[in-house]
Amino acid sequence: MIIVLKPDITRKQETAVLQEIRKLGYRPHVMRGVARTVIGAIGDERTHQSLETLTTWPQVEQVMPVQKRYKLVSREAHKATSTIAVRGNIIGGRKLQVMAGPCSVETEAQLMSVAHAVKKAGATILRGGAYKPRTSPYEFQGLGEKGLKLLAKARRETGLAVITELLSEAHTDLVAEYTDIIQIGARNAQNFQLLIAAAKTGKPILLKRGLSMRIEEWLLAGEYVLSNGNANLLFCERGIRTFETYTRNTLDLAAVPIIKAESHCPIVIDPSQGAGRADLVSSMCKGAVAMGADALLIEVHPNPTAAWSDGPQQLSLDLFARLMEELRPFIAAAGRE
Ligand code: PEP
Ligand code: MN
Repeated sequence: MIIVLKPDITRKQETAVLQEIRKLGYRPHVMRGVARTVIGAIGDERTHQSLETLTTWPQVEQVMPVQKRYKLVSREAHKATSTIAVRGNIIGGRKLQVMAGPCSVETEAQLMSVAHAVKKAGATILRGGAYKPRTSPYEFQGLGEKGLKLLAKARRETGLAVITELLSEAHTDLVAEYTDIIQIGARNAQNFQLLIAAAKTGKPILLKRGLSMRIEEWLLAGEYVLSNGNANLLFCERGIRTFETYTRNTLDLAAVPIIKAESHCPIVIDPSQGAGRADLVSSMCKGAVAMGADALLIEVHPNPTAAWSDGPQQLSLDLFARLMEELRPFIAAAGRE
């Protein structure tokens, strides 16, 4: 931490600050300038108590942290990008992984037709919500355990791995029993007790970015997963809430190179929630691939106009197959498979 003292303070006031710094376990280093005295407090800020309270002291002008607040998710902690194996599919490696499937699991016929179609087109992981976080309580809330069972059936039939959302701590064991990756949705991205419970299952966790979450907060939410013994974390950018209304959310593609620079955890892009519009999904995917995303999470439905949730943003089976073809040169240009 850097502590800037106010001008014209007495030696006694300065000494009191030095004593407090030592009391909290830091080693003070005094730098006396022409106009100001600055103190460097030497010590690991993540394991020592914060010196922020010094800002309330009358002789202190400013307290500035030097270190990042996250540790285990940081690139510093682990130089190479982490790879996460899900039923033999490596996320974070050379191959761009595609997770695709309906927003919600609706019926057996719906899920099986999507599963077979996305598998044929090259996806390796099947997505589908069984517990849905809906804005209105009057909207379809998901099939619950029945939906989980259908996902398991689709996995048996196709060999695709499965990702589904864990909405409540109460369902942790149940969801973990059926899924290969646990999705933590945007609305729960800072539900720390849920993150801890999910982390403790040992399953890979896909952590969506919250609707109005800063990247630092997102990284710190991820820190909850790693600090609870689970190193298999995927960050997923799905758009943030802005003033723009042409899209449902504003997909922040800058998050890809930022997460890559800050963290060793793979980064996934969800262009479906990101744009909220099927017609934009292809462009968003191309941008995501160019930015270096490790995986895509795409909503696909056999009949989007009749979908029980998120119809406007879901791709039909044909459009998804076409998208996978269109992405080929972009994937190659990005040095991926
Ligand atoms: C979803 O994937 O269908 C979903 C609800 O995502 P998010 O949490 O990003 O809104
Ligand atoms: Mn959705």
